[in-house]
Amino acid sequence: MIYHAPVAEILFSMLHEAGLDHGFEDGLYADLADGFAEATLTEAGRLAEHLLLPLDRIGDREGARLIGGEVRTPEGWPSAYAQWTQAGWNRVSGPIEHGGFGLPILLNAACIEIWTAANMAFGLCPLLTIGAIEALRVHGSADLQALYLPRLVAGTWTATMNLTEPQAGSDLSGLKTRAVPEADGSYRIFGSKIFITFGDHDMAENIVHLVLARLPDAPEGTRGISLFLVPKFLLGDDGSLGARNDLSCISLEHKLGIHGSPTCAMVFGEKDGARGWLIGEPHRGLACMFTMMNNARLNVGMQGVAIAERATQLALYHARERRQGRAPGEKSDAMSEIIRHPDVQRMLMTMKALTLAARAICLMTADSIDRSQREPDAERRKKASERAGLLTPLAKAFSTDIGNEVASLGVQVHGGMGYIEDTGAAQLMRDVRIAAIYEGTNGIQAMDLVLRKLPLSGGEAMRDELADMRVVLAALESINSEAFGAMPVRLGEAVASLERAVDFMRANIETRPKDILAGASPFLRLFGLARGGTALARGALSAHRLMSTGASDPLLAARIALARFFAENIATGASGLERNITEGAGSVHAAADAFAL
Ligand SMILES: Cc1cc2nc3c(=O)[nH]c(=O)nc-3n(C[C@H](O)[C@H](O)[C@H](O)COP(=O)(O)OP(=O)(O)OC[C@H]3O[C@@H](n4cnc5c(N)ncnc54)[C@H](O)[C@@H]3O)c2cc1C
Repeated sequence: MIYHAPVAEILFSMLHEAGLDHGFEDGLYADLADGFAEATLTEAGRLAEHLLLPLDRIGDREGARLIGGEVRTPEGWPSAYAQWTQAGWNRVSGPIEHGGFGLPILLNAACIEIWTAANMAFGLCPLLTIGAIEALRVHGSADLQALYLPRLVAGTWTATMNLTEPQAGSDLSGLKTRAVPEADGSYRIFGSKIFITFGDHDMAENIVHLVLARLPDAPEGTRGISLFLVPKFLLGDDGSLGARNDLSCISLEHKLGIHGSPTCAMVFGEKDGARGWLIGEPHRGLACMFTMMNNARLNVGMQGVAIAERATQLALYHARERRQGRAPGEKSDAMSEIIRHPDVQRMLMTMKALTLAARAICLMTADSIDRSQREPDAERRKKASERAGLLTPLAKAFSTDIGNEVASLGVQVHGGMGYIEDTGAAQLMRDVRIAAIYEGTNGIQAMDLVLRKLPLSGGEAMRDELADMRVVLAALESINSEAFGAMPVRLGEAVASLERAVDFMRANIETRPKDILAGASPFLRLFGLARGGTALARGALSAHRLMSTGASDPLLAARIALARFFAENIATGASGLERNITEGAGSVHAAADAFAL
């Protein structure tokens, strides 16, 4: 098993690409100063490599099992989860008033990358708990918070997100689960949910389900949905665990990847109804759930980054070991390591560059969420919150697309050894496939970006983002260094393509909605190329500055070379995407008509 947590690279990205450097200057991240971030990530890496990584293959082979109505996770997982929570990792960004450490989302997102890279199926469990903590912290009553948050924050209890029903997937308006009010203020929940991640398991003492359901007087559609907290074990007045609630996992899905993560079909209220308690206002459940989902969307984006990172490390290792053919210019008669072949180098550098661009975008999103809570000025908090809203669909969809592409390239670098299971490259490709589907499919993310996020504050959030990219371009133009190659020109072209695409979207959003929706996914990709490319360029500028003041860390020259590679080989796709967006819709509709779709 190959994975070494790339702590120096993550720190560089946090500091020079995501905005931690400005955050330090603004006094927002005192809690990460004096080497604290580095020490934390180093320790996370140690635990991930020694505790979680060895359990990854076991999880894939053994999978979760349903035995006598109870879900059993793979061998060694409950003990690993206990060690992980006892070391305090579930508390990292949890609210201080409920036992959390209150550290930045930026740091926790980087930790999530590390857990997930070592073992994606395992890391999914705390990822959902973190989202539920956020929903409960923002929308829950003081009583519910006091009863549930301390143990969710500690991780001794875990949480789930119960949205999906057979007839209600991307579109939750068809949701049928019912909630009937009781005289004591609680509710009885009746209904079935499918695909519920960690809906049951043996790693925690209790499982807290956040369930979307309809009240008897609920209006039709998504505006009639409420959110309920439904625990596996009911609590006594003192918070002690009591009787089992009327809910159960009736089957587990057999699926492509993340075999260790139980994907449960759940039934609520087979007898007299599962006891639940309302979170937030009646009929406003979707808004509450969105608090959880936005948080979870960033973290699913981190899953894409994590698997891309691990696939890249694995491919690099294989390419150094495997010998085939003779590389150009090779003097000896012996076969070359495949890493010496230019086409393999192109694949490996594509993997690396895409991974680093996706990481930069996700960490930028995390920084915006932190700023939306930490900025002392209300106007700056609002701006940061809008930026987080704009970047969240990008972080989720771009990064998980990258996770899939990079994992697939990883199999290619391995040749036939990648397609069979022994190397682990195939498992990474299977595991990461789901990340583009759950937490809102990537198509739904693209629609969210163009329909809801582009118009934020009359388009100001996107204008600010473009202005930020232009600041990087202006700095690039002032650099006179061969190492930067055509980076300023190519990134300038990519940003100009994005600007024209934004103008097109804004001009046609009311009059040509069908065309806009046909171009939504290419638009998200174009945004990712321009934003990812300029983020890497910002890192390259910092590396150049540090080198010119005497720093000699080889990482610095590598960051410049990598940003240049991205600009000259990947961001060049921007002009084609611009055409897809501004001219491609007509042929989408014509071809769909021709094929009678
Ligand atoms: C392993 C796994 C774990 C999961 N975990 C959870 C969980 O913990 N909790 C939970 O509630 N759910 C969970 N899900 C469900 C998951 O979130 C849904 O599968 C996902 O939201 C997509 O819904 P769907 O499967 O019904 O697909 P559909 O909604 O049927 O979508 C199929 C395709 O149509 C597209 N599409 C749908 N509507 C539109 C539209 N309006 N415009 C354009 N394109 C559209 C989609 O993008 C997609 O490509 C999980 C699923 C899996 C497989």
